Amino acid sequence: MTSRADVVVIGGGVVGSAAAWRLRADGLGGRVVVVERDRTYARASSWLAMGGIRQQFGSTVCARMVQHSVELWRVFDERAKTAAHAPRAWFRQRGYLFLADDANAETLTAREAAQREAGVEQRRLSVDEIRALVPGLMLDDIRFGLFGPHDGYADPREVLGGLRAMAEAAGAEYLDDEVIGIDVEGGRVCGVRLASGTRVASPVVVNAAGARAGRVAALAGLTVPVEPVRQLLFRCTLPQTWPTRFPMVIDPGGVHWRHDDAVTAGGPDRIILAFTKWDEPAGENFACDDARWHDEFYPALVRRLPGAADVTDVHGWAGLYEMTPDHNPVLGEHPSLPGLIFASGFSGHGLMMSPATGVVVSELVRVGESRTFDIRPFAVDRFERGAPVRDGATI
Ligand SMILES: Cc1cc2nc3c(=O)[nH]c(=O)nc-3n(C[C@H](O)[C@H](O)[C@H](O)COP(=O)(O)OP(=O)(O)OC[C@H]3O[C@@H](n4cnc5c(N)ncnc54)[C@H](O)[C@@H]3O)c2cc1C
Repeated sequence: MTSRADVVVIGGGVVGSAAAWRLRADGLGGRVVVVERDRTYARASSWLAMGGIRQQFGSTVCARMVQHSVELWRVFDERAKTAAHAPRAWFRQRGYLFLADDANAETLTAREAAQREAGVEQRRLSVDEIRALVPGLMLDDIRFGLFGPHDGYADPREVLGGLRAMAEAAGAEYLDDEVIGIDVEGGRVCGVRLASGTRVASPVVVNAAGARAGRVAALAGLTVPVEPVRQLLFRCTLPQTWPTRFPMVIDPGGVHWRHDDAVTAGGPDRIILAFTKWDEPAGENFACDDARWHDEFYPALVRRLPGAADVTDVHGWAGLYEMTPDHNPVLGEHPSLPGLIFASGFSGHGLMMSPATGVVVSELVRVGESRTFDIRPFAVDRFERGAPVRDGATI
């Protein structure tokens, strides 16, 4: 059986849903079909993420995409409310605080200059100012802090549910199915084949398959370097009610954490921590490695925040970063396969920029080019051309 669509989006995570929503909300009258292989999203990166949202990036385009997205994050819960769904993503603009020691002071100073150019709202904090902002930090080795006051964090699952509800309310259709083939005719994409045996003919297919985007590209015979790489998060309960709320605090050694506020008053006072392992091998590995809590996360946390020594209820989980070689997205139509648009490879910062990514996809489909953002640095073929994006702000 074959049906017809104007656009097929592969993957209904935050990126695919933002794209589907914008396409319809921006006036695309045709049929937008989102194919999602797992309605539970149990292994989707969007479901398992930390929810951090920051404008502090070394490249102008990343900074601008998040600046744009923040306009939605600020009003998301109100804007995303539909008759069927009322999300509570609760974007808390408590900032991102990068701490600089001798080893990374130069890098952060260079990034501060690049961010100034990009119009990022930021403040360089002295050690005393850091102490006033986040009491309890051990700052003996810290030279300064770089603070983005408009950054913050939201609940990723509520973001996912909200964006999907917005897309559905705008008229996008979700199919519980898996894309197992991409059809090509006359040198351009003409549809997808599904595990259920059906086919959806479409002149445009969007690859928003997250950590599986490389596999999906291979269905069209293309090699695009997006690889799944495990990322661990741990949640723990603080030893007492903390007097202040944490911004996202990024230690120079890599550990970073944010508050995980109780939804109801009187609930436990918790934080969520991440600590990227840069030599983590690629692969769809969802096992939680508790040894990393004991050997890396906990010692690094307590070194920086001694008052957290007696944390309890430690719970860890693993999700997948959708990694590219330069840790930046692949965005845009594939140069050798017209009709196949990539919205993938966000390498751990795709949630925060998903609203802007929706704008990019919508413009590419409706007007044939990305007008709001200059996405040329993110071209799908940049690795073959030896033109990686120099950003260096992945954490
Ligand atoms: C532990 C962790 C922490 C993170 N922290 C942050 C953070 O603080 N801030 C931030 O911005 N980002 C963060 N990220 C990254 C962020 O989660 C991702 O960049 C973002 O969720 C990508 O969204 P997506 O929709 O592309 O991918 P996903 O959410 O993975 O969605 C892709 C969907 O495609 C579906 N799919 C795949 N293949 C097929 C197919 N063949 N057919 C049909 N469906 C298919 C999958 O089932 C999946 O639901 C984090 C990620 C992880 C793992």
